[in-house]
Amino acid sequence: MFDNSIKAYTQACEVIPGGVDSPVRAFKSVGGTPPFITKGKGAYIYDVDDNKYLDFVQSWGPLIFGHCDSDVEEAVIKTVKNGLSFGAPTELETQLAQEIVDMYDYIDKVRFVSSGTEATMSAIRLARGVTQKNDILKFEGCYHGHSDSLLVQAGSGLATFGTPSSPGVPADLTKHTLVCEYNNIENLKKCFEDSNDIACIIIEPIAGNMGLVPATEEFLSACRELCDKNGALLIYDEVMTGFRVSLTGASGIVAAKPDIITFGKVIGAGMPVGAFASSCEIMNYLSPDGAVYQAGTLSGNPVAMTAGLTNLRKLKANPNVYTELNNKALRLVNGLKEVASANNIPLQVNTRGSMFGFFFCEEQPFNIKQVAKCDFDRFAKFHHEMLKKGFYFACSQYEAGFISTVMTNDDIDECISAASEVMKSL
Ligand SMILES: *Cc1c(COP(=O)(O)O)cnc(C)c1O
Repeated sequence: MFDNSIKAYTQACEVIPGGVDSPVRAFKSVGGTPPFITKGKGAYIYDVDDNKYLDFVQSWGPLIFGHCDSDVEEAVIKTVKNGLSFGAPTELETQLAQEIVDMYDYIDKVRFVSSGTEATMSAIRLARGVTQKNDILKFEGCYHGHSDSLLVQAGSGLATFGTPSSPGVPADLTKHTLVCEYNNIENLKKCFEDSNDIACIIIEPIAGNMGLVPATEEFLSACRELCDKNGALLIYDEVMTGFRVSLTGASGIVAAKPDIITFGKVIGAGMPVGAFASSCEIMNYLSPDGAVYQAGTLSGNPVAMTAGLTNLRKLKANPNVYTELNNKALRLVNGLKEVASANNIPLQVNTRGSMFGFFFCEEQPFNIKQVAKCDFDRFAKFHHEMLKKGFYFACSQYEAGFISTVMTNDDIDECISAASEVMKSL
């Protein structure tokens, strides 16, 4: 049933490293061949073997209204006919920025870029420029894109300064990155004792890159307090959670508010868009107003802006979607937990808005070390068997899942009954 995908993958591997343009797509952590996708429609995607899948990945988050949403599609086609790019200002950028600024009390200005990686990289440069400090603090298990200073792992022992997690990143570039355990306030305090040169904390306030692991309110408040006390800025990386877990993302549902927010994914509705946003005071440091340099030839691309604008306006016009999405997410994970426990399989579940996560382990994980103790073999089997039954889950236990508005309760119930069969063989 995967013959054509296997062929396509073999051909891809000859001309593209690992056959993919982003490593997670290669299915390395679950094994097997990734299906090569031909099209999406609503809640479903189709592959080169004409298999149909209920899609819980949604391009890793952007497609909150599902594939080929007619409003986004129409707006994009209309814009395309006027030209793909100008490298000059368009009113679409102002309109999208205005939509975002209107949502938050503490956000006055937005700068658009073309990916989440660019958004976090630029936000960090801005924080360093504003504070005139050099170090940054990140948390194990949080992913902020692949820029050099963020590809770090915790140092050995008690060291809080990170070491490169990839060849090609000089240690000189990561020596300014401190790495701390997620949800560990003591460890966080130690970082601020180890360095008086911290420009910013960058955090996924609801982590979606170690499965779904929310930070506790106490932890985020400690981040806020320590930043204020030490003249550092707090960056919420909401590339995944922005407009996903609520209209105003994680920032909207937790008590501690950030200084800078980074966006991606939903903000582009599937087109390559990222953004970072903050108060006037902070954003005015950016060039051309200020001295902190940041630029992009295709930034604010009109087609991408149109897609994002349509997505956000539609979300704003339908404030009830988040409750509906969360109800469906709960229906899914509670159903999965039930069929797991019927087969004596321990399963931990979590949801935030339209995001969900599940872990094959005994206790709810709060950090990456605990996630790493989950049963990855069992997850791989589950993933593969569900794929064969037409359910497309993220191909790693370290990834979150997504519900779209076009997914029905019947879709979800079918998934649960398929899972019930699969769990018997795990
Ligand atoms: C996806 C993601 C990124 C990176 O975005 P890209 O568009 O892949 O560069 C950064 N931060 C978070 C939280 C993400 O989920």
